[in-house]
Amino acid sequence: MSDSPDDTPRAALKLASLAIHGGRPHAAPGDAVVQPLVQSVNHVQPTGTPDGVMYTRYANTPNAQIVQRRIALLEGAEASLVLSSGMGATSCTMLSLLRPGDHLITSAWIYGGTRKLFDNELPAMGVTVTTVDPLESRAWRRAVNKNTRVIFLESPVNPTTRVLDMRPLVALAKEFGLALVIDATFASPINYRPIEHGADVVIHSATKYLNGHHDILAGVVSGTESVVEEVRQKMMVWGQAPDPFALWLLERGMKTLDVRVRRQNESAQRVAEWAETHPAISRVHYPGLASHPDHALAKATLDGFGGMLAIELAGGGDATPRVLERLRLITHAPSLGGVDSLVSEPRYTSHAAMTSEARAAIGIPDGFLRISIGLEDADDLIADLSQALE
Ligand SMILES: *Cc1c(COP(=O)(O)O)cnc(C)c1O
Repeated sequence: MSDSPDDTPRAALKLASLAIHGGRPHAAPGDAVVQPLVQSVNHVQPTGTPDGVMYTRYANTPNAQIVQRRIALLEGAEASLVLSSGMGATSCTMLSLLRPGDHLITSAWIYGGTRKLFDNELPAMGVTVTTVDPLESRAWRRAVNKNTRVIFLESPVNPTTRVLDMRPLVALAKEFGLALVIDATFASPINYRPIEHGADVVIHSATKYLNGHHDILAGVVSGTESVVEEVRQKMMVWGQAPDPFALWLLERGMKTLDVRVRRQNESAQRVAEWAETHPAISRVHYPGLASHPDHALAKATLDGFGGMLAIELAGGGDATPRVLERLRLITHAPSLGGVDSLVSEPRYTSHAAMTSEARAAIGIPDGFLRISIGLEDADDLIADLSQALE
């Protein structure tokens, strides 16, 4: 339990092992096998030096250090920082990368909270924001101006499960010296590690797959030491650090990340294939299906197609309440990425601010249901959907 760097040989360990052991110094006889929860805000300080101050809001206490090191190892990043929510992670990252007068280019297909941050908060601070259709490859380049500092995208995309091609954006970011930031929450580091593909900064809502149990809120930023340190400075001042208990639960949840995500990949594929044959379902969105518009790209860039899928009911928006009320195993609730399967209707959650026509135009017609596949048996999930659709 020191703040010394760990000795995990990343190259020698696979992701499943890193998720359990990464970031922990080699245990000695008498050590607890489980990293203890140190539920203390402050720690005894050395005298005669400003160094060595450990304080929970600085994210340098024991439960923060271990989980941050572990995520950095999983991502292949120099460093990671855990914040109190996914939104805290995105906000503090933007605060550290952008100043008044700077310009941000963002994909139009982003999480609703991120959209509010970019549409309202950043412009109020003097940052200009250009939103582009991510499929229009020339639009990104056209949007670059001399004040541009950051390119932001989310992939896979909520809730359509579209997968974006990062290669042209990596080239663009290099050419103009921009920071390429990607929210890869939907994939988790098991399915996608964007730094390996040229991203500068990766953000996750750790509330989702990383923790995986629907019981804490947290966010992560990963990148170079210097970028992560800048974000940490913002996090300290804007007060976005997590509590030790949340960090402890996150570390505990992450031990099963690899098995959870692999199982969710498998079950989602099975449910998606079944759903494609059901007469009450007019369309299925899942990157693992040959019918998905980004199937080839997903196959080439992801290690797994993920646990998120969406279906469109043939009966449209009128059909959803009855189906949702009849589901017994799949719970109608927001959020995703945990052990319980969840279903939500974007028209009443992430995309509630848009008109029905505007939603349909971006591929989310009424009758669209997003499903986060949990760890129940896939046969039981299919049976639950089947009886609800009768
Ligand atoms: C949930 C989510 C967020 C926000 O995370 P919180 O932990 O709820 O703050 C950001 N991006 C994506 C893609 C998400 O799904």
